[in-house]
Amino acid sequence: MLTINNLHVYYGGIHALKGVSLNVNKGEILTIIGSNGAGKSTLLNSISGFLKYKGEIIYKDQKLNFSPNKIVQMGICHVPEGRLVFANLTVEDNLLLGAYLRNDKKGIKEDLEKVYTLFPRLKERQKQLSGTLSGGEQQMLAMGRGLMSSPDIMLLDEPSLGLAPLLVQTVFDIITDIRKMGKTILLVEQNAFKALSIADRAYVLEQGKIIMEGSAKDIANNPSIKEAYLGVK
Ligand code: ATP
Repeated sequence: MLTINNLHVYYGGIHALKGVSLNVNKGEILTIIGSNGAGKSTLLNSISGFLKYKGEIIYKDQKLNFSPNKIVQMGICHVPEGRLVFANLTVEDNLLLGAYLRNDKKGIKEDLEKVYTLFPRLKERQKQLSGTLSGGEQQMLAMGRGLMSSPDIMLLDEPSLGLAPLLVQTVFDIITDIRKMGKTILLVEQNAFKALSIADRAYVLEQGKIIMEGSAKDIANNPSIKEAYLGVK
């Protein structure tokens, strides 16, 4: 569904991605694990059209060379790190903003109901200003807003960052539910343990290079990964 070939990204003199190649299959949860600064956000920002790069990104047989808006319309949605909800708008207005490139009123209404079913907490708080939500609720809102663009693939950047352990579990359960809705998930995480527990396949990114790939189970059982990312010796 999504293929990346030999991707290079530079920030001035910093070579952030050094020839990354990977593929995402339809319907899977693919995770990319890597420590701080490995290049995970850079990879997602390249796919969603925010960065210039060398190499190619191919989505549904088309070379992605478009504006971020067009990329959203093609079915790719990016839920950025740090959530970035509009604090002065209500929960519902934030959700509707996720659909701002769509014209199908009926579909938008149906998707809003689906989001409220997936996140009952957001329904309870639909008229509340988003700035008053807890961190976990804002993460749910950011994912719900992403779903409102009716994506085929969701790029999730560190959805568990800064959340209390109980909420971390809730967020990972919801990602599994979103996949059951037929979406493909590209999940970028520092929480390797949790990410590997819900993913089908994984890539390990270190200093801008993919150093390992395999089934999530094999990666989770790999001794060097256990030591480096899972805190096991
Ligand atoms: P984190 O989890 O901290 O976001 P990451 O794996 O997502 O880490 P990136 O944010 O993609 O990593 O950063 C990759 C490298 O590129 C790092 O060395 C970082 O310092 C550098 N970098 C990222 N954004 C910029 C920028 N706007 N300008 C200059 N360097 C940047």
